[in-house]
Amino acid sequence: MDSALAAAATPEAGPGPAWQSKCPWGAPNATSRSCSLADVMSEQLAKELQLEEENAAFPEVVAVAEGPFITGENVDTSSDLMLAQMLQMEFDREYDAQLRREEKKINGDSKVSISFENYRKVHPYDSDSSEDEVDWQDTRHDPYRADKPTTTPRRGFIGKGKDITTKHDEVVCGRKNTARMENFAPEFQVGDGIGMDLKLSNQVFNALKQHAYSEERRSARLHEKKEHSTAEKAVDPKTRLLLYKMVNAGMLETITGCISTGKESVVFHAYGGKSATEDKVIPPECAIKVFKTTLNEFKNRDKYIKDDYRFKDRFSKLNPRKIIRMWAEKEMHNLTRMQNAGIPCPQVVILKKHILVMSFIGKDQIPAPKLKDVTLSSEDMKKAYYQTLNMMQQLYKECNLVHADLSEYNMLWHDGKVWLIDVSQSVEPTHPHGLEFLFRDCRNVAQFFQKGGVAEALNERELFNAVSGLNITADNEVDFQAEIEALEKMNEDHVQNHGKKLSTFSSDGDPPIYDE
Ligand code: ADP
Ligand code: MN
Repeated sequence: MDSALAAAATPEAGPGPAWQSKCPWGAPNATSRSCSLADVMSEQLAKELQLEEENAAFPEVVAVAEGPFITGENVDTSSDLMLAQMLQMEFDREYDAQLRREEKKINGDSKVSISFENYRKVHPYDSDSSEDEVDWQDTRHDPYRADKPTTTPRRGFIGKGKDITTKHDEVVCGRKNTARMENFAPEFQVGDGIGMDLKLSNQVFNALKQHAYSEERRSARLHEKKEHSTAEKAVDPKTRLLLYKMVNAGMLETITGCISTGKESVVFHAYGGKSATEDKVIPPECAIKVFKTTLNEFKNRDKYIKDDYRFKDRFSKLNPRKIIRMWAEKEMHNLTRMQNAGIPCPQVVILKKHILVMSFIGKDQIPAPKLKDVTLSSEDMKKAYYQTLNMMQQLYKECNLVHADLSEYNMLWHDGKVWLIDVSQSVEPTHPHGLEFLFRDCRNVAQFFQKGGVAEALNERELFNAVSGLNITADNEVDFQAEIEALEKMNEDHVQNHGKKLSTFSSDGDPPIYDE
């Protein structure tokens, strides 16, 4: 296709127009395959061109957001901003509606269809309501729809005798070309030629198109760069809106900036505001964990949630957007359980969709260091070890949870003690892989404290038994792991046969604590 285009664009098209200093078609790309004029003019090719244009007309536009440093000080400004964002969201929705119509038009009754899904601005899991479904195709005037170019029927001509007009007719073709300019990327300024009776020759049209493509690619590259530099801090408009709402409601005083960007979440620091209800006190400093609404990173986490019976019924029926909210919800529930057991961890302030607000571990905007980043005296290291052992036991026995991502990366050192964070992936011990997760946690913890010089630190197998209350005797890792898996399997079989979990490895057999 490209070579056909390149061939169609004439090298000697004259000096470039004013809007472009360098002639875009001066040096055509490698014209490896030449094609005849008849080819270029053929209906088939025209169709393909049309298709390609239409596809190219909707480049992927990613909403780039600068890190939202949201303050409540200037309420007017932030309201304006919010208004602007609402408008933007409205625009995005309309853009998508238009895209949907284009898609429909192109696909028609064809068995093979083309999807524009990737070009949508509002993704299904970002959208919040069925408003997206509003299709204003039915409204009388659709400002986005270009007047249809006159089409030439299949046989290639219209009219009779000497009034016959073929698709090669200069006027018809010119008008058609002008109308097709509409299909260039939206950023591409085509002027108001569309409104006039402007007739573009094929030559000029093709040259323009070629230019539009290269411009688009260039801008895509620029865009990509920009995207990479801010992507980490970027939150989508919906999220920003939710954050603004929290500030505007006075719940948060200021969102000062980003503390951390991970694969699955972005964490912001905020100063707490006033609660709407008397009984709830908002901590002076908060951490806002925004679960990323891009799915990819979450796919590999399916195994944590899919088999968690608490979420089992819901998992299969949920759309991706809801699954992400479920992660946030899971973190909230798990934190609440931990809080109830007195384990040092962030306190939940509020959960709004995929945004979890909790108390900030740290002071004056400076987050507490992770255990991996802090140098502790041997005394503190020992203290941290015993505390960690204790917390793991509490987590298992009192909260009926296995952290499942426990390591020096998810333990903060603050106020002379260890705080546990990042519990969205935590599962109950009877999760089909719960004991394996626990063993992995134990390995991380044992290694960290052993390396840290804590002579008393149990090895991973001893730690596992100490936490779980199980008594696995295997003296090497392979056998130990095999026994763990056998236990898990036994439990699963029991579930299959009796519909409920064995309590064998919940040492005291307590029912799970529900805070729902
Ligand atoms: P991730 O899934 O991205 O690892 P975490 O919950 O571990 O998410 O948060 C990432 C980082 O953000 C943490 O390592 C920590 O530095 C910081 N952080 C998260 N929650 C808090 C909090 N409540 N207080 C202070 N810092 C926090
Ligand atoms: Mn983490």
